[in-house]
Order: sequence, then C-alpha cells, then structure tokens
Amino acid sequence: MKKSIFTIPWRMITTILILTLTISFQLKAQTLTKENIQKALDDAYNKFKDLQEGKNADYIKELANVDPNIFGIALVTTDGQVYTKGDITSMVSIQSVSKVFTMAKDIEDLGPQAIQDKIGVDATGMRFNSIVAVELQKGKEINPLVNPGAIAASSLMAGADSAAKWKNILDIHSAFAGRQLSLNWPVYVSEAGDNLRNQAIAHLLYAYGRMYFDPVQATDIYTKQCAINVNAQDLAEMAATLANGGVNPVTKKKVVSPQTVMYTLPVMATAGLYDDSGIWLFNSGIPAKSGVGGGLLAVCPGKFGIAVVSPPLDAAGNSVKAQKVIQYVIQQLGVNPYLVQPKQ
Ligand code: GLN
Repeated sequence: MKKSIFTIPWRMITTILILTLTISFQLKAQTLTKENIQKALDDAYNKFKDLQEGKNADYIKELANVDPNIFGIALVTTDGQVYTKGDITSMVSIQSVSKVFTMAKDIEDLGPQAIQDKIGVDATGMRFNSIVAVELQKGKEINPLVNPGAIAASSLMAGADSAAKWKNILDIHSAFAGRQLSLNWPVYVSEAGDNLRNQAIAHLLYAYGRMYFDPVQATDIYTKQCAINVNAQDLAEMAATLANGGVNPVTKKKVVSPQTVMYTLPVMATAGLYDDSGIWLFNSGIPAKSGVGGGLLAVCPGKFGIAVVSPPLDAAGNSVKAQKVIQYVIQQLGVNPYLVQPKQ
C-alpha cells in the first residue's frame, strides 16, 4: 500500500507529545512545592500512625516511661519553611542524635584530620555500645557516631574543664536547633546512675591512649549530652542546618562551616543507624542519625532536613515508625540523590 504523506508527521507529533508529558511528569514528581511536601507528610502520618511494631528502650529506666504514642514529623527547607504533622511539641531526650553535633563541633574546632587520627571515621558495623569493637581495633577506628567514639568526641570538646566542655556542647546543639535547649534531668539522672558499661568503654579507651580527658568526667559529659531535650521540630531544624551548609535556615546564623558539614554527612551516611546503616542507606539514599529516645533525623543536602519522633525501637535501636516515614517521604518527593533521570 502506498504510504500517505501524513503518516510520518502524525507519528512524530504523537511521540513528541508523549515525551513532553513524560518529562513534565518526572519534573513535577521532583518539584518541592508546598503542596507536595505537606501532602507527603500527611500521607506518611496516616499510613504509619497505627503501626504497633517496636518497643521503647528500657536499659535506661526513664526511657521506658516515655509515652510510646508520641508521633511527630517535621521538615524544614533550606529556605527556612517549616512543615509539620502530628505531635511536634512533646520533648524526648536526644540520645545518640547528639553524637552528630558534638562531632561537627570537634571537626569545626580541630579539623577533619584530627578526628580521623584521634577517633576514626570508619563504621564499626557493630552495636552502638559494643566493647568488642574497641578491643578488636585496640581503640582505633571507633567512630564518633557510636558510643566509644562519641565519648572520645565529648572528651575532645573545647573547654578546660568539665563545665566548659558541657557548655560548649549545649551551645552547639542550641545553635543547630535555633533556640536554647535544656537538659532532661530525670533521663540524665536515670542514665548517670546506670552507665557502667559506657564508663567501662571510656576506661578501655583511656588504657589505649584514645581518651582525651578524665574518663569518668568524659562519660558524665556524654551522658548529659544524650539527655538534651528536643522535639521533632528541633531535630528537623538541626538537620536543615546541615542541609544548608551549616547556616541555620530559620535564624540565618552560621553554626559551622560548609566544610565541616561536608565531613559530617558521610559519617552519618555510613554509621548513622549503627549496624543497620547500610540497610538505611539502601532504602533512603541520604545521611541520617537515630537515637534510643525515638528521634531520627535525615538530611537532604541543599534541600531540607526532616525528623520524626516516635519512641518504639527495632532490635538495632532505631525508631520503627521514623525510619518508615522518612523513607516514604523521600520516595514520594523523589529526592533520593541516587535517583537520576537519564539524559535522553
Ligand atoms: N545514652 C545512650 C547510651 O549511651 C545513647 C545510645 C543511643 O541512642 N543509641 O547508651
């Protein structure tokens, strides 16, 4: 049959139309509009609010008394917009999430090489309070985001005495959060009376020459640091400050340098969720940090910080709901940095 001269242009037009629609859909899926962000938070909240998995930490007695139904989501963009859903005012102890900010302050003051040499930055791949991890490496490569490296990081904090070091730690956390934070005394007292394991870790590091202040006092400063009170919005603002190269996008104040953030985020990516860090990165693609108080924050560099508070934890010590919510939001907003649309 003879080909009509109209067949080819029609095909071309249809193809161009389909391509345009596909590309504009892909771009739309990745656009961080106000509506998209709020809808992602609302949907995540509704999807996971009735999930009953996990259990509050109870090895710190006071944590067992925290309401397991606290469930709040907050997202703060690098231009300072705040989005929330659920309970963003209930306070929980920051616990291991604090390790990020003490490490960042040490990197800022002493430089990345000092942290690499004096503590180590490789993931241990073991539980957060593993003594075996210290022993295997003779105190080296202990990582600032699990207990041994974190106690070493607190011992390295600027300040001539215990009070000065604690003040610097509280100040840096407050600057990241954009408001004056304070201590949760019942949690501090509860953990301080029961932290022989962390004291053992500090003494073992001391024996290997990898503790940079009195081990008893360093453990006490670290225990206080873990008991700083925060809500979901505080954690999201802290994450947003990291997402924004070290300037708090709400207060507009410089907290640390972009270089410090550049060295902080990779440690979060490789060790932020303890021995489940690889599983987390596989499912989210972004740096994050959890704590046994039920907080979890994650950083989408250049875009936003997101945080969830929900106390029930899984076996590795990470909030069950928080992991699911953040992974869902990242997917809905299409912001996993490893998701790249091929050039046509
Ligand atoms: N303060 C807690 C501890 O040292 C912090 C642990 C955590 O959040 N994983 O055991």
